[in-house]
Amino acid sequence: MRDARRRTRLAAAVAFAWLIASASWFVLLDAAAPVRYRFTFPAPEHHWMQIEATFAELPSTPLELRMSRSSPGRYTLHDFAKNVYDVHAFAADGRELAATRPDPYGWTVPAHGDVVTVKYKVFGDRVDGTYLAVDSSHAHVNMPAAILWARGFDDRGATLVFEPPSGVRWQVATQLHPGSTPYEFTAPNLQYLMDSPTELGPLTIRQFSVDGRTFRFAVHHTGTDADLESFLKDVEKIVRTEGAIYGEFPNYEPGSYTFLADYLPWANFDGMEHRNSTVITSSASIANDREDLLDTVAHEFFHGWNVERIRPRSLEPFDFERTDMSGELWLAEGFTQYYGPLAMSRAGLVDLPATTATLAGLIRSVALNPARGVRSAEEMSRMAAFTDGGRTTDRTNWSRTYISYYSFGGAIALALDLSLRGRSEGRVSLDDYMRAMWRVHGKPGSARQGYVDRPYTIADAEARLAEVSGDAAYARDFFARYIQGREAADYEKLLAPAGFVLRRQNPGRAWWGDMRLDVRTGAVRVSQPPALDTPAYAAGIDQDDEIRQIDGMRLSSPEDVNGILRRHKPGDTIAVSFVARTGVAKTSPVTLKEDPRVEVLTVEATGGRLTPAQKAFRDRWLR
Ligand SMILES: [Zn+2]
Repeated sequence: MRDARRRTRLAAAVAFAWLIASASWFVLLDAAAPVRYRFTFPAPEHHWMQIEATFAELPSTPLELRMSRSSPGRYTLHDFAKNVYDVHAFAADGRELAATRPDPYGWTVPAHGDVVTVKYKVFGDRVDGTYLAVDSSHAHVNMPAAILWARGFDDRGATLVFEPPSGVRWQVATQLHPGSTPYEFTAPNLQYLMDSPTELGPLTIRQFSVDGRTFRFAVHHTGTDADLESFLKDVEKIVRTEGAIYGEFPNYEPGSYTFLADYLPWANFDGMEHRNSTVITSSASIANDREDLLDTVAHEFFHGWNVERIRPRSLEPFDFERTDMSGELWLAEGFTQYYGPLAMSRAGLVDLPATTATLAGLIRSVALNPARGVRSAEEMSRMAAFTDGGRTTDRTNWSRTYISYYSFGGAIALALDLSLRGRSEGRVSLDDYMRAMWRVHGKPGSARQGYVDRPYTIADAEARLAEVSGDAAYARDFFARYIQGREAADYEKLLAPAGFVLRRQNPGRAWWGDMRLDVRTGAVRVSQPPALDTPAYAAGIDQDDEIRQIDGMRLSSPEDVNGILRRHKPGDTIAVSFVARTGVAKTSPVTLKEDPRVEVLTVEATGGRLTPAQKAFRDRWLR
């Protein structure tokens, strides 16, 4: 990739070999002409914008223009070229240049002079953290979904000019660096540019400071200023609480951190982290869904440390032309999934029952899920290439072989936090672990904006745990069993010192699996593959099978099953008659198990007494 950075007019200089290694050569390269982008909106009501991109000081090699196939923070392919059309390349004198399509994702200009301007239209009508959305109210721009870039130009800066439609007053909010007018911005290189979503519209922009850092909240919404003012007080609490976990805020390169919020009826629920900003979108409003919106704020803001700067090596630098696979998303996303609700609890924004329910959800999704036997947390993370928002045409069996790295990692974070606190009598916690990751891998930053110089490997993540716990054997054991292995932690034991009780939800109740049944073509059918290790799976029952009789009773509705199971106890064997979609009828014995579902309650809620030691543990953790 470095080769294409050389420019024709440097050719003579290259003859002097010593110059290549000299600092002045790099200074020359850094000063190379920035790529200039101009965004206009001739017909926003039809959801497209016009972009002109000018590449100057070109080498004589073919100019390879690319649309991204992936977007930072997303791990499936999105193939943004699908929305690009009317592409034309021009020389400096206005003459049109021939362009070829080497593959579906780009355009190549084989022969050109020193300058090429490419003009194209791009369509987008989805408000979220991944795509482009243009309408007469705003333009919500995720850069990978919008801009053509050139291979080999990674280190070129960029200038961007936005020209809103005539007659509207749009403000611009972004983590891009401000230029000479309110509509001009710059980026130091391609990585930073692609990481810089930009919102143009009738924005309300507020700001507050914490510990000398400036936080901007730019929102496009249908709510009132009063809604926003009170919401921002809670956002500030989250910012302070998470800052306290790490002990300091990152150095936000533009001098501030920006929340880009679209709370609009036609937006999709999403959150996407970036280095110095986040996109948070929802069809809900502050007035009707405040807690969920704050939960997204808490999750995304935590990413400013965890993943944006404490970054797995597998994601650094981000490759826009392929899926970026990472075995560490259980930490990057999962630990963030744990800390969002924890920060909400510590900031006093959710009550204890709500926090308890969140923790119970994490435990259930992992400890009771036989899919854990199929893939470890590390392997589940690598599945993001398929599962992260990607839709499949064919059926998958993910419902029984896959656990989201969000909940998997969240459950691991919970176990590790409780384990560290328990074994150190409260002196060491997961906060210390995150601070150690920050100190070694995040804080050193990078000489180049948009990059991380000391990303971590899984061995680094284990080494930090060894340091924080002071016990390398403990760290090895934890990683081997719960992250690279297939075990689930003993949550009942881990939660007890904090005054929580984990117990069976339906003790003694017979169970044949969490079966999903529906009525189709006049018959009761299985609508989702039965989970592994369930009595129904063992009996050979699968998706689409018609369940005719259970224990001699003919089924007329899915609800009949509960009544039948109530008459039995775990260990009983009952006959199930079913017809596979191939037409083959079968009667299988099904040996019932005890319903494995668990609930988590405070010890007080079970009628027990919270001891002073339990109260102290719980307060240190959740308050
Ligand atoms: Zn996340």
